Amino acid sequence: MIEMQDVIKKYSNGIVAANGLNIRINQGEFIYVVGPSGAGKSTFIKMMYREEKPTSGTITVNGVDLTKLKNRHVPFLRRNIGVVFQDFRLLPTLTVFENVAFALEVIEQRPKDIKKRVMDVLAMVGLKHKVRMLPTELSGGEQQRVSIARSIVNNPKLVIADEPTGNLDPDTSWDIMNLLKEINMKGTTIIMATHNKEIVNTIKHRVVAIESGRIVRDEQRGEYGYES
Ligand code: ADP
Ligand code: ADP
Repeated sequence: MIEMQDVIKKYSNGIVAANGLNIRINQGEFIYVVGPSGAGKSTFIKMMYREEKPTSGTITVNGVDLTKLKNRHVPFLRRNIGVVFQDFRLLPTLTVFENVAFALEVIEQRPKDIKKRVMDVLAMVGLKHKVRMLPTELSGGEQQRVSIARSIVNNPKLVIADEPTGNLDPDTSWDIMNLLKEINMKGTTIIMATHNKEIVNTIKHRVVAIESGRIVRDEQRGEYGYES
């Protein structure tokens, strides 16, 4: 579902954050992206949802060549990709329900169906009882659950998570991992950049290690491979 060929990304300041990336990711995989800070992990995943464009090379996602995709078509790509961030990025003035409903692409849907879909995903993440609350009234773990609900509300084939447990305590991090596992079991591809050694070495998945803009390791059921 994702293919990169000879992808190079040179930022305008001259930094080469991707230096010849080649990878194939199949539908339904769960992938950890690991590596030191500044290695190019975020750049690697940002290029998958066209937050960054490569300087050269090709990237195909769900059959679409992103290097040829017109800017005005990017929203259609994003509809099939959920994104989860370390800092949650919820809209502070909207309730939990509204944050998730806001992300739902409303294409001729009845209000009743919209409400059902939003309540279904909030039930899945265990927050049905907090739908009227504001993000500031929630714990970090709960805010991350809302952001996961938001990421899956359109039933995307792919969820990209950039250090989703980075701001959470260990117990809460395991809860979030269980949720991602549940989403993955329904067939959604998950790509997760992480520094969480414990999680990578316990819940085994494919591990892609990036250093200085290059993939230096790519193993099924791999190890974290760094000290911390
Ligand atoms: P990681 O996620 O592994 O920490 P990043 O992809 O964020 O790595 O960064 C890789 C390199 O690219 C770093 O040297 C970083 O400073 C640089 N970089 C990231 N984003 C930008 C940007 N928008 N402009 C210039 N340099 C950037
Ligand atoms: P079931 O028919 O077993 O109840 P559903 O398809 O209704 O399964 O989904 C159960 C829960 O999972 C619902 O809250 C739904 O919103 C959510 N869900 C559905 N599809 C996905 C998906 N692709 N990724 C993540 N969650 C999903």
